[in-house]
Amino acid sequence: MQAFEATNYYFDRAAARLDLSDNTRTLMITPDRELRVEVAIEMDNGQIGNFIGYRVQHDNARGPFKGGLRYHPHVDQDEARALASLMTWKTAVVDLPFGGGKGGMNCDPSKLSRGELERLTRKFVQQIHDFIGPDKDIPAPDVGTDAQVMAWIMNEYGKFHGFHPACVTGKPVELHGSAGREAATGYGVALICREMLGKLGKVVNGTTFAIQGYGNVGSYTAKFLHQMGGKIIAVSDASGGLSQPQGIAIPELEKHVAISRKVVGFKGGEPITNEQLLTMPVDVLIPAALGGVFDAEMARGVQAGLIVEAANGPTWPDADEVFEARGIPVVPDILANAGGVVVSYFEWVQNLQHFRWPLEQVQREEERRMVESFEKVYEMAHRKGVSLRTAAFMLAISRVGRARILGGI
Ligand code: GLU
Repeated sequence: MQAFEATNYYFDRAAARLDLSDNTRTLMITPDRELRVEVAIEMDNGQIGNFIGYRVQHDNARGPFKGGLRYHPHVDQDEARALASLMTWKTAVVDLPFGGGKGGMNCDPSKLSRGELERLTRKFVQQIHDFIGPDKDIPAPDVGTDAQVMAWIMNEYGKFHGFHPACVTGKPVELHGSAGREAATGYGVALICREMLGKLGKVVNGTTFAIQGYGNVGSYTAKFLHQMGGKIIAVSDASGGLSQPQGIAIPELEKHVAISRKVVGFKGGEPITNEQLLTMPVDVLIPAALGGVFDAEMARGVQAGLIVEAANGPTWPDADEVFEARGIPVVPDILANAGGVVVSYFEWVQNLQHFRWPLEQVQREEERRMVESFEKVYEMAHRKGVSLRTAAFMLAISRVGRARILGGI
């Protein structure tokens, strides 16, 4: 099974409860537009580098397409499609006036110089600038891209269309970005952990967490959970993992990672493998890296009491069934990691109004939206007797469907 098929499996499971006709189903799962462009640049050594860039615009019934740009060797058409579709449902679950899109570049950014990365990004924008824009399609950071890449996008887009900071979100705070955007996804994941634990009669303080992935999302999730009194007993990244049953000293780990760029080598924990982290006894397991982490076999080995999906698409459908059968609740990606796009929305609004919000306002509004959305999904799951994932998809599908009907096919 491929990623887009997996997303559609989740869609279908929810759609079956909503009595969608076959034609409506096809209309809602099929992407509106798919761009695939060749991006050739001059490499530092004088040779030509050939890369392929993608932008899939999945659905814009509720507003402009919105979603990140991923730079990673796994990026392909199918992955971009799956992630674009997830963005449609994500923006609908948290009720933003956006649709869903996603794109990226098949490349390994760790092997590119800063100059190569800049040329690649600018060339990509030259290929797609007519299809993006503040009220068409608004890219943002994702795996392998950051605020600097967004700054290049804004600058390059401006050469064709003039000053439009709202054409991309996740920009540096010094260049029309929003306070709190960089931390927003991790902050949202921590809030969702707090809310879900509350439903289970628990609190973050004293609860144990294992976090797979220590990039933007994983590191900020760890930071906020640690601040709330949570015990982060294991973390990992592409270099390996470490565990500390008493709880890792997250501020110390942050300093270590700031210098060495990886968790391995940190003295405050014992080395563990990625698989050991995923199957260790822990209260809350948080996949915060790439998709496709849990297959059925891995799911059978999980010993956590709760899973909160900070990554996009970490759970294959057969694993989801195992978790459901075993009674392990899963808070789905389209809800749990929506904090990033929520604050992207605030950044877009600030750009359009040429007005800046203080950090407290950004965090307060993010919290309000995340908590309200969580309550809606939780209530729907309870009322319909379905999983949180199916409830989130049901809520999203009905909102997108309603917008489609109101706007006309
Ligand atoms: N890439 C992030 C996501 O998957 C953020 C998207 C955005 O801010 O538009 O949700």
